[in-house]
Amino acid sequence: MNLIPLPAFSDNYIWLLQHQGLALVVDPGDSTPVANWLTEHNHKLDCILVTHHHGDHTGGVAKLQHDWGAKVYGPAHEKLPFEYQALMQGQQFSWLGMNFLTLDVPGHTSGHIAYFAEPEGQEPLLFCGDTLFSGGCGRLFEGTPKQMLHSLDQLAALPGTSRVCCAHEYTLSNLKFANAVEPHNASLQAYVLHCKDLRAQNLPTLPAKLANELQINPFLRTRSPTVISAVKKFAPQVKDNEADIFAHLRLWKNDYQ
Ligand code: ZN
Ligand code: FE
Repeated sequence: MNLIPLPAFSDNYIWLLQHQGLALVVDPGDSTPVANWLTEHNHKLDCILVTHHHGDHTGGVAKLQHDWGAKVYGPAHEKLPFEYQALMQGQQFSWLGMNFLTLDVPGHTSGHIAYFAEPEGQEPLLFCGDTLFSGGCGRLFEGTPKQMLHSLDQLAALPGTSRVCCAHEYTLSNLKFANAVEPHNASLQAYVLHCKDLRAQNLPTLPAKLANELQINPFLRTRSPTVISAVKKFAPQVKDNEADIFAHLRLWKNDYQ
């Protein structure tokens, strides 16, 4: 099973899994890069996964579904403008013998889901849409900080070897903020150099390794003393509970240039 990030728009990735002439794509906001890849590699599109309702994740679904008759899965708690099998927390399905587990991860949108799979003989895969980014997390458009914290906790509990397939190449700008929060985090500094090197060669920084995210991503580290004290310095009014620490970290990032 091969994993391929197809660049779309200015900074989206449409993740593609390829196996024996068949392909699965995640969040095809645009059908064109998918169609081009399928033609070029002589593959059939078999399955489409959608994490949430935003147009940059769903815009290409109807055309691909129509052109290929591909099976579509998506969130049970959101309304999408095409036919799909609705999934919620704990529900599973299989694609070419590989099992996918659905996780409810509200916060960026209220019905956002993520997909977790363990391909045989390979590191696990997490398709998390706009919930977890390398070095950051999605903006809270519909959910509460408490929901997002719980969603990220759920993702953080997956195996550390998991390949985190985020839907955007936001890594370098996220890391700039992460460095403002934890300027003395050595793992973070090493990771910044690594990612700068990749981007200089026009390569994706993704998929990220979950174990590394736990070391460098401030939004997965909101219970660490260094992150707590940085948030308190930025927002002295913050209350001493984890949801409020998380909320103010997210607000800080919203305004950070
Ligand atoms: Zn989104
Ligand atoms: Fe997006």
